[in-house]
Amino acid sequence: MLEYDIVIVGGGLAGSRAAVEIARTDNRLKVALVSKVHPIRSHSVAAQGGIAAALQNVDPQDNWLTHAFDTVKGADYLADQDAVAVLTQQAPQVIIDLEHMGVLFSRLPDGRIAQRPFGGHTHQRTCYAADKTGHAILHELVSRLFQYKVPIFEEWYVLELIVEEGEARGLVMFHIPTGRIEVVRAKAILFATGGYGRVFNTTSNDYASTGDGLCLAAMAGLPLQDMEFVQFHPTGLYPVGVLISEAVRGEGAHLINDAGERFMAGYAPSRMELAPRDITSRAIATEIREGRGVGGGRYVHLDLRHMGKEKILERVPFAHDEALRHLGIDVVYEPMPVRPTVHYSMGGIPTTVDCQALAAHGQVMEGFFAAGECSCVSVHGANRLGSNSLLECVVYGARAGASLARYVQDRRLPHVDEARHRRVAEQGIQNLLDQPGSLRIDALRREFQDTLTDHCSIFRDEQILKTGLEKIQQLKARYGDIRLDDKGKLYNTEITEAFELRSLITVGEIIVASALERRESRGAHSRSDYPERNDGEYLKHTLAYREGDALRIDYRPVDLSLQAVDPERFTPQARKY
Ligand SMILES: Cc1cc2nc3c(=O)[nH]c(=O)nc-3n(C[C@H](O)[C@H](O)[C@H](O)COP(=O)(O)OP(=O)(O)OC[C@H]3O[C@@H](n4cnc5c(N)ncnc54)[C@H](O)[C@@H]3O)c2cc1C
Repeated sequence: MLEYDIVIVGGGLAGSRAAVEIARTDNRLKVALVSKVHPIRSHSVAAQGGIAAALQNVDPQDNWLTHAFDTVKGADYLADQDAVAVLTQQAPQVIIDLEHMGVLFSRLPDGRIAQRPFGGHTHQRTCYAADKTGHAILHELVSRLFQYKVPIFEEWYVLELIVEEGEARGLVMFHIPTGRIEVVRAKAILFATGGYGRVFNTTSNDYASTGDGLCLAAMAGLPLQDMEFVQFHPTGLYPVGVLISEAVRGEGAHLINDAGERFMAGYAPSRMELAPRDITSRAIATEIREGRGVGGGRYVHLDLRHMGKEKILERVPFAHDEALRHLGIDVVYEPMPVRPTVHYSMGGIPTTVDCQALAAHGQVMEGFFAAGECSCVSVHGANRLGSNSLLECVVYGARAGASLARYVQDRRLPHVDEARHRRVAEQGIQNLLDQPGSLRIDALRREFQDTLTDHCSIFRDEQILKTGLEKIQQLKARYGDIRLDDKGKLYNTEITEAFELRSLITVGEIIVASALERRESRGAHSRSDYPERNDGEYLKHTLAYREGDALRIDYRPVDLSLQAVDPERFTPQARKY
């Protein structure tokens, strides 16, 4: 059996930043990092627009408390204010630390780190590396993993989180190239497994964003928090769904409907194209629904032409390339077609501000931590502001590393029955290979993704959600009828796909069930039958527990501690832009 002090699952920004922090804090600790793809291929590498911090390089009026206020208001007051304070106070330091590691941020003429405007941020505070920020940061972090000699289990798929007697004890994983099973025990485990965009049929996320970590936590009996809050990014390139970064609007692009109008004037006059994402996505969906999509179609235009060729190629070269590559459109001369695309999961594994997972409200899970997009600490509440996610990964990734390095000092390796776990996992894979089903994985996945997209999209209501939940339960029952064409174990990607489909279905069901029970509209969760926010009943986090085949929904309170610092801004109030 493999044994480590700490095992990190996930090599994106959160996981690799945590590994770096552990190595810096106590280099005697035995740490390993597991990732189903090469760490550099984690979705973090695709992040484009930037990372927020009140550095005051462009805007000396900015400060952490205003950044915190923008975040809490953007979150429609559902964010935990203690967690937001940590995020925004530590932001400038983590950026400087990244710069010292060698991250190539774009510069102002005087050499300081440049900062651009971003949706929902009242000051110009988003640091960036052109529109390839994730690439720039992840490459530096992953090279640090090699520098600190962190063992990397690359192309290993984690299929079980072992939780016994109320504590996390280890993992079961299989090697994608060979099908070999390994059981690992550890004093503590960190999940940094990213998001679940692939639950839907159109997303900006990569193929590996299947919500595995969330599924494994739910299967181990942990609650998932605020899963009804799914972020739609306003500008997915139509029809492919790939992301056109908010940086494009940050640099001045306009959203235009069929009549040639900058329609955001009717939805968020003070912020226009730089309103928060939930509001901008609803505006685009409304324009399309009411027949003002371009040519009466299912998209609107993002127009960059007035920005001029030089600025477009210098500031947002990747967006320029994406439109040219996918659609043959040169945005210097033509507007590009866009519509909202599923982008980010606000919900996830609930944690303390020190990243330890919660087993229930007020009760931590021993041995288990989470950070990054799979966690819900919760700094994004009901709606995340652009450029706050990379920040969360770096701030809370480092924090998780520091907490873990402390936590394992006086903890022993737990007992794990290796033979039993290995036998169960091997039998499970053999059963998958042998099962005589009639359904292709791809067909069931597509049907499932279409169901989620039709029944839990930007606008929701009781009937749509209820029917969606029934359909999901029927699809779930058909999972046992999938058939693998490849019966071998070497590079059998169908085994991985079968496990990923289990994740999609588990996570998707929790999203819809949580959405059904929140009978109000808040942030990204918009109910046509309950159009108002209802603080009296719903200023609280949803906790969804999987119990056998059923789901149980519970709630926990929201932290409002910044109210004591600035009651005028941090007391929940109507959200206007
Ligand atoms: C196209 C795009 C652009 C974005 N742009 C920005 C931006 O400009 N600014 C911003 O703040 N945010 C942005 N975001 C959001 C941000 O990039 C992500 O939220 C963040 O990078 C997530 O990082 P992470 O470390 O939590 O997870 P990821 O980077 O997604 O990494 C997940 C890791 O978990 C591993 N993993 C998952 N499941 C398993 C398993 N079962 N077994 C083994 N390993 C597993 C994967 O291999 C991977 O290494 C963007 C997102 C997208 C999709």
